Amino acid sequence: MTMSEQSPAVNPFETAKRQIDIVADLLHLNGGMREVLKSPKRELTVNFPVRMDDGSFRVYTGYRVQYNMARGPTKGGIRYHPQVTLDEVRALAAWMTWKCAVVNIPYGGAKGGIICDPKHLSLAETERLTRRFASEIAPIIGPEIDIPAPDVYTDSQTMAWIMDTYSMQKGYSVPGVVTGKPISIGGSEGRGEATGRGCSYVIREAAHELGFKVKGASVAVQGFGNAGSVVANLLHDEQGAKIIAVSDSKGGIVNPDGFNPHAVEEHKKKTGSVVGFPGAKAVSNEEILELPCDVLVPAALENQLTKKNADRVRAKIVAEAANGPTLPEADTIFFQKGITVLPDILANAGGVTVSYFEWAQDIQGFFWTLDEVNQRLERVMTTSYADMRKKAKEHQIHNRTAAYVLAIQRVVDAIRIRGFYP
Ligand code: GLU
Repeated sequence: MTMSEQSPAVNPFETAKRQIDIVADLLHLNGGMREVLKSPKRELTVNFPVRMDDGSFRVYTGYRVQYNMARGPTKGGIRYHPQVTLDEVRALAAWMTWKCAVVNIPYGGAKGGIICDPKHLSLAETERLTRRFASEIAPIIGPEIDIPAPDVYTDSQTMAWIMDTYSMQKGYSVPGVVTGKPISIGGSEGRGEATGRGCSYVIREAAHELGFKVKGASVAVQGFGNAGSVVANLLHDEQGAKIIAVSDSKGGIVNPDGFNPHAVEEHKKKTGSVVGFPGAKAVSNEEILELPCDVLVPAALENQLTKKNADRVRAKIVAEAANGPTLPEADTIFFQKGITVLPDILANAGGVTVSYFEWAQDIQGFFWTLDEVNQRLERVMTTSYADMRKKAKEHQIHNRTAAYVLAIQRVVDAIRIRGFYP
């Protein structure tokens, strides 16, 4: 991905640890507990060969980090990206731990990644890469251990291959080993759009609290992928918002009068990018963050909103569909400017919430309707939003810190009540 503003100098795991320290101070946690919270429990690095279509072999490196399992089996996606690092996966695994805790689902956090450029792999190469990685991490995953899911540049097909590879090794079908699967093999209704849908619910709640209507409000979305395109579609279709700008790794488009996100999606399907959509002007991935709009949705990668550009953000709400788009210094600026941040661990938790529903359905072998899934998702998102806001008001802190206080307190309670082995 060529998001130039993604600074390689910022190590996401350092950010993750700083966020823990801020909350550990507020919760008066002792040194030992801080160390536990800042330490990934289990990390696996695998280097493995993949046969390319031309007959040659290449060695790829992948990671799976299980950050904390005090509250249950670990959960989190797998991403395919050239810039994956172990520290990035650690940060993402830590964020999964807090995310599952903030929406109160019975999981710890994990994440995985392979250093690769999925845009330069054929479908067959991607399948071989996925199956080999699945068998490399097979000893540490499973429905009761650690359950992967899609993330950046992975999807339901990737999950189907992992499920099949794992099942072939076991000798029977194990649908609960991954979530985000196709419906035909034990996936859940509504999982595909769950991240974006959950995000649209908390945007609705926040706008309501701030006293403005989403109907007619202007929305800019950085990253028109798994999460971002769904947020745009749902805010447009269900809440009447005006989508004025969207972007992807190749660049962005803007039209202050708004456009139909479904038409943009069609354009992207045909041409590979949102760029060049008729009737829109070009905008860069940096500029899109600074456009005048009511709601800004960073839905791409980490480290997008920094102390350099936070001052120029003009949105009323920043809803983090991406993981880790905002650095702590930018948070402080947003708080001072009165910009409402809907932090990633809440704003994008709809995905893992419906993953939990999928896993529960797989284990029971009893499946729910789309309505049941969406109603339960809505309940989880609105309740968690209200819990976060209550904490924020109680302690006069910004939303991210409030969400972290809620989440880390839950993880700490689980660690304390279980005690330390032996
Ligand atoms: N990758 C998604 C996330 O970052 C979903 C994880 C899951 O469903 O386990 O939340």
